[in-house]
Amino acid sequence: MFVPQRHQTVTVPVGPVSVGSCHPVVVQSMTNTDTADPESTAKQVAELFHAGSELVRITVNTQEAAAAVPEVQTRLHDLGVDVPLIGDFHYNGHVLLKKYPQCAEILAKYRINPGNVGKGANHDKNFATMVQCAVDHQKPVRIGVNAGSLDSDLLDDLMETNAKSSIPQDSQAVFLEAMVQSALRSALAAEELGLKREQIILSCKISKVQELVRVYRALADRTDHALHLGLTEAGMGPKGIVSSTAALAILLQEGIGDTIRVSLTPDPGGARTKEVRIAQQILQSMDIRPFLPQVTACPGCGRTTSSYFQVLSQEVEQFLVARMPEWKKDKPQVANLQVAVMGCVVNGPGESKAAHIGISLPGTGEAPRAPLYEDGVQVGTLEGPTLAKDFLERIEAYVARME
Ligand code: SF4
Repeated sequence: MFVPQRHQTVTVPVGPVSVGSCHPVVVQSMTNTDTADPESTAKQVAELFHAGSELVRITVNTQEAAAAVPEVQTRLHDLGVDVPLIGDFHYNGHVLLKKYPQCAEILAKYRINPGNVGKGANHDKNFATMVQCAVDHQKPVRIGVNAGSLDSDLLDDLMETNAKSSIPQDSQAVFLEAMVQSALRSALAAEELGLKREQIILSCKISKVQELVRVYRALADRTDHALHLGLTEAGMGPKGIVSSTAALAILLQEGIGDTIRVSLTPDPGGARTKEVRIAQQILQSMDIRPFLPQVTACPGCGRTTSSYFQVLSQEVEQFLVARMPEWKKDKPQVANLQVAVMGCVVNGPGESKAAHIGISLPGTGEAPRAPLYEDGVQVGTLEGPTLAKDFLERIEAYVARME
């Protein structure tokens, strides 16, 4: 495992999950259901939880949504799902948290966007009301600044000051500084209102990779508050995955980020759980935190004899994902298992020996047999129509022997 020199932050308990300091980087996600519909919301929370989300955020945007939170919780309980729920509030959180105390009590954390709590005098009053609810219910909050809803009064002030400066900065630098200041000033205000430092997580999300890196480096330089990390509005498909990975990887490598979310736009009809798997895979690919056995598979090339190699790789992946919930009950160390599925003799034996268990399929011109390796030693060959089944059985047997 790679242990980055973590940016020193305060630990924030969110229900039973510890965020910050030396605790493992926490994976979180958010539903896209109408929270006023407790059936579909509880179902999606359960799916995200089963995919590995350790915290799940739900929208609390209307009275109906706030009123439905207890029913969401009951349904989750009936499904055997115990995951901290985070309430996402904008504009009317001060009203909803006061009017629906059961909602305020059930939620494990409140997300407050300081850009969306009102203007002028109302800003401070509404913010104070939400913080007071957090104090009363002993809940942590995330002060979540977002580039798309930055506090415009603060931005105007900083822009004006910058314009009068003898060495003015470019407007984007002022914008990023306004994001950082919005988070820090709000955190200070929350502490002055009675929230403990151990109850505050900060985030400053923006949708451009380099800007996210700049803003989080600045934030990490200036505070020891726990940090929620994520590229907002990352987008769809490869763009969303690659942009999120690029941004988060740079910051995680520098030890910045105590909890992460990958904000992917799902394909129509696509699974919401994909954002959880991507977040886990970022942490696992960086050797920061293991979640699932990993498959080393070559890309295939002109030496690969057929699509069988791809089919087997996929079958092995699916088998590992399906078996992991059972394996990890007794053997969490299986998350570190490395399996190789390789296409020919060129790199097959080498990669298979480097894995815990690996197979090197025959490429063009090779004898139709697949050498099988365990712990760097060839332990046999597999061939014929039962090859896939035999290989999966060997993986199962290997796991059974793991200490
Ligand atoms: S291991 Fe063989 S099949 Fe796979 S990419 Fe390399 S040369 Fe091609």
